[in-house]
Amino acid sequence: MEWETVIGLEIHVQLKTQSKIFSGAAVDFGQEPNTNACAVDLALPGTLPVLNKAVIEMAVQFGLALNAEIGYRSVFERKNYFYPDLPKGYQTTQLDEPIVGQAKVKIELEDGSEKTIRLHHAHLEEDAGKSLHEDFAGKSGIDLNRAGTALIEIVSEPDMRSAEEAVAFLKKIHSIVTYLGISDGEMSQGSMRCDANVSVRPLGQEEYGTRAEIKNINSFRFVERAIGVEVERQIDLITDGGTVVQETRLYDSDKNETRPMRSKEVANDYRYFPCPDLLPVELEESYVQSLKESLPELPDAKKKRFCSDYGLSSYDAGLLTQERPVADYFEEVATECKDAKLAANWINGELSAQLNKEDLEISNSPLVAKTLGQLITRVVDGTISGKQAKQLFETLWTEGGEVNQTIEAEGLKQVSDSGAIEELVNQVIAENPQQVENFRSAPEEKQKKMFGFFVGQVMKLSQGQANPAEVNKILKVKL
Ligand code: ADP
Ligand code: MG
Repeated sequence: MEWETVIGLEIHVQLKTQSKIFSGAAVDFGQEPNTNACAVDLALPGTLPVLNKAVIEMAVQFGLALNAEIGYRSVFERKNYFYPDLPKGYQTTQLDEPIVGQAKVKIELEDGSEKTIRLHHAHLEEDAGKSLHEDFAGKSGIDLNRAGTALIEIVSEPDMRSAEEAVAFLKKIHSIVTYLGISDGEMSQGSMRCDANVSVRPLGQEEYGTRAEIKNINSFRFVERAIGVEVERQIDLITDGGTVVQETRLYDSDKNETRPMRSKEVANDYRYFPCPDLLPVELEESYVQSLKESLPELPDAKKKRFCSDYGLSSYDAGLLTQERPVADYFEEVATECKDAKLAANWINGELSAQLNKEDLEISNSPLVAKTLGQLITRVVDGTISGKQAKQLFETLWTEGGEVNQTIEAEGLKQVSDSGAIEELVNQVIAENPQQVENFRSAPEEKQKKMFGFFVGQVMKLSQGQANPAEVNKILKVKL
């Protein structure tokens, strides 16, 4: 039987505010436990929440960026449950009236095809603290630094049909929140976490299968793997005559498996009710409008512009605009060397391969944009060949240095002197009389193909140092 995978994502994004959503305590990752928690975060009696205006601004920007319905009226609710890292005994969140409503999100897949994933809604809520189990034998430590940090939770419809689509959706959301600057999107630090709801059904069946929810996956790679093993588990289970139960599961990346955490609570168990300490949030049209006008250029628009202004392919432009620092880097390189296509090739090729290999972000690239731009300039003006450029790139990558000085020091200049090249051409013609004869008697469209042979011979003779453009020019005349 053929199976179809169905996936819906719930993505938690930490908002990059200075203070927490309902208190004045600082939001700052990696501090001493409990140094960034105030009386409100500790839920001391008599404290009251005060809504952070920046949080509303960021959520509305997010909604506008997706062209979503904006919740002009949104309401905070209490979601009641007990857990040691939640001193209030409830999480303040939104349920029926969230700040961001439905939207359609376009994703692009490896093969170039596009797909639309529907957003169910996105709502604001506070994060909980952290329980620390490792440092205390037989006890747990509670760190409330994270308690009260602002989150936006983004809930998709179950519209994804493969792990690849889920990763593409997650990357799109990552790209939008980081372009907007409303989150640093650092998955490894937990600023962006993803719950994947996964089910399978026989291909062609309309009804959804029962889903399992895999909690708190913290990297793109793990999202892909977790979904992969979960789908396999469900299919095996059903094929063996079992049934999938609706539950929350945990992905263990060391063992590459998912295992049960707890059975999923029914929403009713949380006894949601509107928080009496917080007024409904009502937005004015002019406020939303002014935020709309101040939105930065977003990935889709940038991609379009890269295609039209720089003449890039949709594929190249897509790669370059996924993350804003890469797009900025590209524009700097292109401005420096004035050859956008070469700039794109170098960044999507050599540079991105090296960054991947060493697990570096582009902001930490040993070659800054200006340097790569200068390197490409020397290729464009014929000082160095493509092959020599790769060698130069490697030297600059490992040893640093300035482009022109390194070209001199490494003796990387290609031979452009027409007299020297002419000699090489004469030699090749003299050594290959039969090929020359064949070439001269061939019809024109065949000559084009045969020409490459002579270029190759001259390049070989020059040990790759001859300027190919010059070689072409002289060969044409001589032949
Ligand atoms: P809950 O109220 O339990 O959180 P929701 O209906 O709000 O459940 O859905 C939560 C997430 O699960 C959404 O992202 C949704 O797209 C996804 N989802 C719902 N049903 C399925 C299913 N059968 N298979 C996969 N994902 C699903
Ligand atoms: Mg949910």
